[in-house]
Amino acid sequence: MKCKVSKFGGSSVATSEKIEQVAKIVQADSLRKCIVLSAPGKTPDISIKVTDLLIETAHKALAGADVADLVAELKQRFTAIYSPLGLQDKVIATVLSTLDDRVAANKANPEKYRDLLVASGEDLNARLFAEYLISLGLKADYVSPAEGGMVVTPVFGDAQPVPDIASRLAVLRDRCCDRVVVFPGFFGVTADGDIATFSRGGSDLTGALLAEALDASEYENWTDVDGIFSASPGTVDDPDQIPALTYREMRELSYIGFNVFHEEAVTPVTHKRIPIRLRNTHNLSNDGTLIVAERLPGERDVIGIASGGRYCSFTLQKYLMNREKGFGRKLLSIFENLDLSFEHLPTGVDNLSVVLDQTQLKPETVNMITRSIQREVNPDEIKIEFDISLVSVVGEGLVHKVGVLAQAATALADAEVNIKLLAQGS
Ligand code: ASP
Repeated sequence: MKCKVSKFGGSSVATSEKIEQVAKIVQADSLRKCIVLSAPGKTPDISIKVTDLLIETAHKALAGADVADLVAELKQRFTAIYSPLGLQDKVIATVLSTLDDRVAANKANPEKYRDLLVASGEDLNARLFAEYLISLGLKADYVSPAEGGMVVTPVFGDAQPVPDIASRLAVLRDRCCDRVVVFPGFFGVTADGDIATFSRGGSDLTGALLAEALDASEYENWTDVDGIFSASPGTVDDPDQIPALTYREMRELSYIGFNVFHEEAVTPVTHKRIPIRLRNTHNLSNDGTLIVAERLPGERDVIGIASGGRYCSFTLQKYLMNREKGFGRKLLSIFENLDLSFEHLPTGVDNLSVVLDQTQLKPETVNMITRSIQREVNPDEIKIEFDISLVSVVGEGLVHKVGVLAQAATALADAEVNIKLLAQGS
């Protein structure tokens, strides 16, 4: 069975008009058989996403406060979307009543309770959207993660799919043959049957897992932008849209700054080399950006430039460091023992820098690190620098191109930016 998995983000499902547009998109291509929905996001008039409203509700309910107003607000959000689309009040009310059950659920495990409530944004939306498609005359089914085999680890708020997830989700293959399946994003069920959500933005992961399991011809990710741009529109005026890039290039761009796609969502699709297409729900004339395993060599070597981040470096100087066996291991285990991950490790003959994302540091950590370094590897000097930014020049094959680095360094020099560290992927 050939199919596409189409995931619609919060901004694409936030109003009646948008839901109408999503239904049109679904109907426009018979391969769109598996639809993944986020919870409604912000609108020009409403500045809070449904998911954030649910987080607030869970927080207050756990603190013993009355959440009747919040529940009413949440119900109103969905009613305002689906009622103007002609969905019967009775149908809407029946779907929304599941929210009352969740609010009244057992609170003994606060994290479990929180996830149960927070997942209802996606769940209610998928149920209502399936009803809407049926009201339009389509053969459509809401499928719950429990029924569909979306089994995840019991880590509430940051669940991971279980290792054999693809074979579990394969039960959906038959389902998608003769109808449109509407699946809620962002959460799964544990082996014990509890609801557990992925990390924020996790509907991308739901879509990717389904694309893998259904061996989809394409994974469409619909949002409110035309695609990926070669630089951040907030930094560079009018950057070009990238027509196609590779998974590796996207990973490098999203490593700093580019916030297009949930990081964990790339792995399932890369296994089967399923193309991801980012598209704009409101601009169907634009083909979006395609993310693939291999691309044709383009006109430009550099596909994109990302920048940002707040990094710090611990630079150690020690005469004859290069001859000391175990120096690197001892040094890195200091960071590991403090539960810190490092990003880069540039070395010289007698010096070495550990570069980390400084937002992981707590006020007391820096002193703990320097003390441990002194004790474990006894360097001649330790120098710490904060607030370092990274600029990442991304493109397949750049490593073999002459002159790209020279151009980048010249641009930085022209802007009077000093280069502290340089790393070229091997
Ligand atoms: N609704 C969830 C969030 O806001 C998940 C998602 O949209 O992907 O993070």
